[in-house]
Amino acid sequence: MKRHVLILGGTGEALALARLFAAQRPDLAVTTSLAGATSAPVLPPGKLRSGGFGGAEGLSDWLRDEAVAALIDATHPFAATMAGHAAEAAAATGVPRLKLVRAMWPRRDGDRWISVADAPAAASALATLSARRVFLTLGARDLGAFAGLPGVTFTVRMIEAPETPLPLARADLILARGPFGEDDERALMTGRRIDAVVAKASGGEATRGKIDAARGLGLPVVMIARPPLPAGETAADASEALDWIARVLPQ
Ligand code: NAP
Repeated sequence: MKRHVLILGGTGEALALARLFAAQRPDLAVTTSLAGATSAPVLPPGKLRSGGFGGAEGLSDWLRDEAVAALIDATHPFAATMAGHAAEAAAATGVPRLKLVRAMWPRRDGDRWISVADAPAAASALATLSARRVFLTLGARDLGAFAGLPGVTFTVRMIEAPETPLPLARADLILARGPFGEDDERALMTGRRIDAVVAKASGGEATRGKIDAARGLGLPVVMIARPPLPAGETAADASEALDWIARVLPQ
């Protein structure tokens, strides 16, 4: 029987990893798990499951029931709850776990980053900047922190429309799926006369365009720091994760 690998996904890296496994490790049965947040995700090769597990306990049960031999947490750097559950479940079941952590964007000359701890701190930073037209590249659950900023027009970009209206008095919603290149980001920022950007310190190529565009335009970027992740082995990309699997589950 093929040994079973579970990838916790929802990122480009998880997709790249599932594709690498399909091409290079046909001896493994690979399942990708998605949170189910978007209705039409890009589908990875291999098996797919969708929706929460029911906390660390639910994930532990799933790992046991499905005889998972290795767990790769390739969720987004800000998916801290899932990362914590993955670490707990791996410890409880003895399943080897790897966290795929993409590199942060390096700071470059001309960057005007204002580093903050979270969305409320980002809102305070915008008030200090007296920003009027802000490009907010955050998920729906972080938007409420900006509701109390009067007189600011927000441009918000999401993959699909949220179920409830945006909690912002003045906001334009753009529906689009990355990757987003620098030229398009610059056109968006100049077209909308953006004077500040709020971004998560996500890193990765797919969303780097806005950082490069902001630098070129001399715009401040209020950068929300990554949440802490559980201790354990990490890989920087899909190819390093494949190397880890070669050690943990040799062919
Ligand atoms: P989160 O806050 O860490 O997790 C919340 C809950 O969602 C988890 O407790 C878990 O539910 C469920 N969940 C999360 N990822 C899952 C997965 N891959 N498979 C099954 N269940 C999952 O996560 P989040 O920040 O909302 O992110 C949700 C998904 O979107 C993740 O797959 C992540 O990679 C992706 N994503 C997140 C961001 C971001 O900025 N946060 C950006 C891009 C993509 P149970 O406790 O019931 O198991």
